Amino acid sequence: MSLIYQSTRNSSNKVTASQAILQGLATDGGLYVPVSIPDFDLDFKKLSKLPYQEVAFLIMSKFFPDFTDTELKECIYSAYDEKFEDPKIAPVKKVGEDYLLELFHGSTIAFKDMALSILPYLMTTAAKKNNVEQEIVILTATSGDTGKAAMAGFSDVPGTKIIVFYPKNGVSPIQEQQMVTQKGENTTVIGITGNFDDAQTNVKDIFNNLDLKVKMAKNGYQFSSANSINIGRLVPQIVYYVYAYAQLVGQGEIECGEKINFSVPTGNFGNILAGYYAKQIGVPINQFICASNENNVLTDFFQTGVYDRKRPFFVTSSPSMDILISSNLERLIFHLTGNSATYTKSLMTDLATTGEYQITPEMQENLSDFYGGFATESEIEAQIKTTFEADEYVLDPHTAVALAVNNQYKKKHNDLHPTVMVSTASPYKFPRVVVEAISTVNPVTDDFQLFGQLEEKSGVQIPQVVATISQEPVLHDTVIESDQMQKTIEKLLNLV
Ligand SMILES: *Cc1c(COP(=O)(O)O)cnc(C)c1O
Repeated sequence: MSLIYQSTRNSSNKVTASQAILQGLATDGGLYVPVSIPDFDLDFKKLSKLPYQEVAFLIMSKFFPDFTDTELKECIYSAYDEKFEDPKIAPVKKVGEDYLLELFHGSTIAFKDMALSILPYLMTTAAKKNNVEQEIVILTATSGDTGKAAMAGFSDVPGTKIIVFYPKNGVSPIQEQQMVTQKGENTTVIGITGNFDDAQTNVKDIFNNLDLKVKMAKNGYQFSSANSINIGRLVPQIVYYVYAYAQLVGQGEIECGEKINFSVPTGNFGNILAGYYAKQIGVPINQFICASNENNVLTDFFQTGVYDRKRPFFVTSSPSMDILISSNLERLIFHLTGNSATYTKSLMTDLATTGEYQITPEMQENLSDFYGGFATESEIEAQIKTTFEADEYVLDPHTAVALAVNNQYKKKHNDLHPTVMVSTASPYKFPRVVVEAISTVNPVTDDFQLFGQLEEKSGVQIPQVVATISQEPVLHDTVIESDQMQKTIEKLLNLV
């Protein structure tokens, strides 16, 4: 049983799971997708008694069949350990009538830790399995959270280097401080003058540059990716959808088999796509609420079937969702076309050349698993305030988007299914927006001093991992133009 992965743009480009993890992006520019969905027989009563790590093993062993049980368990238990402040790893909390799946208890207090704490282990194991002798250079574009979480994961991992690019003016002060204070001989983080889409597009071009690839190999290097285009990030994210459902069953909140909704604050479409795979393997899910901020390209897509990136880009209070090219949507498109690489490729070519593509009416009909909506800046702030006043729970701005859009959806469609908001960040990552929303006193000017104000007002303790970052030395301060990314990499690696 060797489940294999294929590129969304070329059906003869097939690889094993470990090769897909090593490569990140397929050489033809496509993303790796499972050729078929593995069979699962999920017994949620049983699953509800298992710790996160064991659920993770059950799911990942079928998606990564070329890893041995021992290898996979080693990866899982190294990743999901005391780094997580909550022993449940991904606890579900009841807030008002709804549930929140808290994915922010890892070392960088955002949901990227769920996958990026395991990716380095998966990748180094995959390198061993495939007798890779070159040093792996992880190249990452970040809208704020991936960069830190990836560096935390790869810091001083033998045989790897990591280079992160972030939009200099597009991340929160806390996010930036977390990144520029990153330790580790093998880590580099660089600000660029453009936005996240510029960083991501350039990273993809660098990956696809064959001359550079040859040059890298000559110098003993090969690229890989820690972005959510890597299947090694997507699969670990399926786990918490299964785990969340099992917890609800275990806590007696739902009957086994009862359908629920998930509302997911979405940017690059990685998190919600993992949910889609969870539904394919048997989690009883009725509807996905795809929640966007004012960068609402996905809302329009789900309503019209046209994906049009030609629109203004907004810097919002939920910066990790400030994205106009949602890379992982390509995987959904591929599945909607009935796994047609030819058709997927032609749509992606449309996007690259004209800035838009349109799916067929039949494909659009198959999109009914998803409802797209968006929240404005003032709706986000109002949601943080309302939830705090009604339920004494402090939402971060991303999670507030999920709740605000879910409330719009419920009003419109009178859908009574129990709903889980996927909660992607701790409020301490975005203290200014949060304090402004829940407090009437003027917030202090320094974001780091806001921690105290937030703690006092909310009663939620400052997470240990950010408590002292303002005093840590800045180790990275390079800023470049976005068209200088490749040159900068070549210099950094001393390529000859
Ligand atoms: C990355 C991120 C998102 C968006 O997730 P995607 O998988 O890119 O859709 C939402 N919220 C937070 C806090 C994030 O870091």
